[in-house]
Amino acid sequence: MCNTSETTFCLQFLGTCAADFSKRLQTDYKNCFDKDARRSSAMLINESVLVDCGVHTPESLRILGIPSGQITDVIVTHLHGDHFQAAHIAAIARECSSPLRLWIHRDASVEAMENVRLMPMAPLETYCMADGTKLTGLPANHAPEAFPQHLLLEKDGKKIFYGCDGAWFLHPTYRFLRGAKLDLAVFDCTVGDYEGDLRFAEHNSIPMIRLMLPSLRTVKIINDQTAIYLSHLAPSLHKPHHETEEIVRAFGAHVAYDGLCVTV
Ligand SMILES: [Zn+2]
Ligand SMILES: [Zn+2]
Repeated sequence: MCNTSETTFCLQFLGTCAADFSKRLQTDYKNCFDKDARRSSAMLINESVLVDCGVHTPESLRILGIPSGQITDVIVTHLHGDHFQAAHIAAIARECSSPLRLWIHRDASVEAMENVRLMPMAPLETYCMADGTKLTGLPANHAPEAFPQHLLLEKDGKKIFYGCDGAWFLHPTYRFLRGAKLDLAVFDCTVGDYEGDLRFAEHNSIPMIRLMLPSLRTVKIINDQTAIYLSHLAPSLHKPHHETEEIVRAFGAHVAYDGLCVTV
């Protein structure tokens, strides 16, 4: 668990799946995590900031024993249902003693919710969160009608990037991040280790990431110290977790899994 006195960011993966969820979540894995029965993609930062709140996020919080009332902010990457469920956000807000801040792309229209304060984000603008974290939404190559944004979070000189969902890098994002030397980066890896998948303009595959990482090093977006995690895996397009972990370890990456906790 988090020891926030020694670390800047404690990241807990609440879900690491694309939208093809395992049926076994409703039976065998109702009350636990499994590396091959992933839930909807979401991450918890310092036990209080949610990145995305999709279909399974309340369940993941319950499994980790995190009370909803502890959540102060929800940052939304985009409006697809595996990342954004208004009813779940409204339910969390009802448990909060002060208004829940909802950070979302400024053009995304969401209905007003009780005890929720909307925090609209303009692309490439940097905002200061209550704990001093700087938050920037970066253009993402994903379905435009879902108002996608990648996220850059910075605090105490530590920088983390969360890029789910989206393929490659769009130019403005590349330009913004050039030289950033990220401490940790999470990349969309919906597609497994094969070529020719149709999703290349909205999601990454393992070969795309294999090709992209050396270029990211060249422009110093990442360096040899950057922790690389792959998330948003589609089980139907991937081998089992342990095999995928072995494949991506060869180029210095790790496969995230539900319940994984990483500190930066
Ligand atoms: Zn998704
Ligand atoms: Zn999506």
